[in-house]
Amino acid sequence: MTHYTGRFAPSPTGPLHAGSLVAALASWLDARAHQGTWLVRIEDVDTPRCLAGMDQTILQQLALCGLHPDQPVLYQSRRADAYQQALDALVQRGLAYACGCSRRKIEATLAQHGAGKPRHGELIYPGTCRAGRHGTQAPAWRLRTDVYIRNMPLALINKALVAPDSIVFSTLPAATAEPIVGPITWSDRRLGTQQQDVAATVGDFVVKRSDACFAYQLAVVVDDAAQGTTNVVRGEDLTDNTARQILLQRALGLPTPRYLHTPLVLGANGEKLSKQNGAVALDLQQPLTALNAAAQVLGLAACTSTVPQALLAWTRQWKTLW
Ligand code: GLU
Repeated sequence: MTHYTGRFAPSPTGPLHAGSLVAALASWLDARAHQGTWLVRIEDVDTPRCLAGMDQTILQQLALCGLHPDQPVLYQSRRADAYQQALDALVQRGLAYACGCSRRKIEATLAQHGAGKPRHGELIYPGTCRAGRHGTQAPAWRLRTDVYIRNMPLALINKALVAPDSIVFSTLPAATAEPIVGPITWSDRRLGTQQQDVAATVGDFVVKRSDACFAYQLAVVVDDAAQGTTNVVRGEDLTDNTARQILLQRALGLPTPRYLHTPLVLGANGEKLSKQNGAVALDLQQPLTALNAAAQVLGLAACTSTVPQALLAWTRQWKTLW
């Protein structure tokens, strides 16, 4: 059996709140229940949104809750070379391309075709630059989501892929073992079977932004593979990203971990609690109180002894829950 490796991957855009503690606790418990390794990764890839010193605040908050990573913390801000290598591999396979479209240009193209309604405020990119970069602004890099290359003869692959710089494959790329388009079906350990057609509902998504920041989707996939992550346990608000990440794993020839998306903490207004809607930092004067609140969301019984004892008791309960 493969050794279990799990991770908690906070973005240092604010301190942990009640919602993020649920994800941290769940991923820690799942790793412990499987006698696995638990890692912490600071997702500071989106540098403009990160706050100085917030990584230390988060690590201290985790430590107060008795959640200690088993290995040194990985920082995404130091991983640009690995992300660039992945992007280069995608470009070489004709699966990523440079896009010089401004938002205005994308909106105009969509209006012209009367298609592509914004999804969560994001536009479904119409693929304008697939056959060559348009526009003058610094390019973003996008993943092609329209290519089906499983079992396709090499000549057809080369015909189907309009690669930038006319890259032509001389051997079949390793990533062809799995289809990389069509609806992605995956199974969540809590939510059951999930399906998403990324090409139809998201479109060719950005893997490196025009401000040179690598996109969350690419960074997560590269790091999960590099760290040997076998199980991703994270908040349900991230469920929607999973199909895109599986697509990228297939395009890069990387393994797909198992996924478990945990229940969200709702604010008084019934909306999910997030840093964005002003969730307050955890009060960790009483870590056990904060942990009990998180445990309750996960369906675990309240425990009033000490933090280490509570963590032990919940690890035992977790084994029968998931
Ligand atoms: N950094 C992401 C967040 O804080 C989590 C990414 C993940 O767990 O895959 O929302």
